[in-house]
Amino acid sequence: MGIIVQKFGGSSVADNERLLNVCKHIINEYNKNNKVVVVVSAQGKTTDKLVSEESQISKNPDKREHDVLVSTGEQITIAKLAIYLKELGYDAISYTGWQIPIVTDDIYGNANIIDIKTDKILQQLENNKIVVVAGFQGVNKEGDITTLGRGGSDTTAVALACYLNADKLYIYTDVDGVYSEDPNVNPNAIKYETISYDKMIQMAKSGAKVLHTKCVEMAKENNVPIIVKSTFVENEGTTVQ
Ligand code: ADP
Ligand code: ASP
Ligand code: MG
Repeated sequence: MGIIVQKFGGSSVADNERLLNVCKHIINEYNKNNKVVVVVSAQGKTTDKLVSEESQISKNPDKREHDVLVSTGEQITIAKLAIYLKELGYDAISYTGWQIPIVTDDIYGNANIIDIKTDKILQQLENNKIVVVAGFQGVNKEGDITTLGRGGSDTTAVALACYLNADKLYIYTDVDGVYSEDPNVNPNAIKYETISYDKMIQMAKSGAKVLHTKCVEMAKENNVPIIVKSTFVENEGTTVQ
């Protein structure tokens, strides 16, 4: 028994059927007597759609308003997931970044997490609730919404695992681990059972979007292993350590 952080990316939560599949992963951990904190991304291509719609209004949108806009996708997912879990008989509560709060610096569009107030989460876990947190977003000291950069929900998950001193951190995605190359581009790519933080940082920096660079850097600094697994097939995945 311990605190488990599970993160599900956009394709894993794309529609109601997939949300149900995600609920099953969560319930599975919860039923093993774990305290479960879940981080989710916006559904499917929601964030891309928001960015595209914004670009039709302005070629140079205000940075503060950009973050207010693109952070909205995750709020939809946390609410739907909490509603679904309750429907299945499991008590859940959703939080946006500012509600926690997840405090960041002022760099709109690429903010860095500087603090997470864990009291509310710990209290809800104590009450046996499943806590569902919006990825990718935070709040700066002025109270304005910030976002962590594209793919930033991974970083929310790692940061929560660090601040909560979690026992396990799982990043669930649409591939079953980290490969030598993008397996969707090269079907002969080789899957790693384990990979070092440094090698993963190097791969993420050269565009392997399976993990957000900042999340691996943070995991390395805090010595938190990241287990990358598939949401859709049951197998071992890759441990970044
Ligand atoms: P999520 O929405 O779950 O965050 P992403 O789309 O951000 O998922 O990342 C998963 C994708 O990363 C995979 O679908 C895959 O195409 C891509 N990818 C790129 N390089 C790699 C790699 N070396 N190993 C695994 N996946 C990779
Ligand atoms: N929804 C955000 C994005 O598409 C964050 C994430 O998916 O991690 O970049
Ligand atoms: Mg991603």
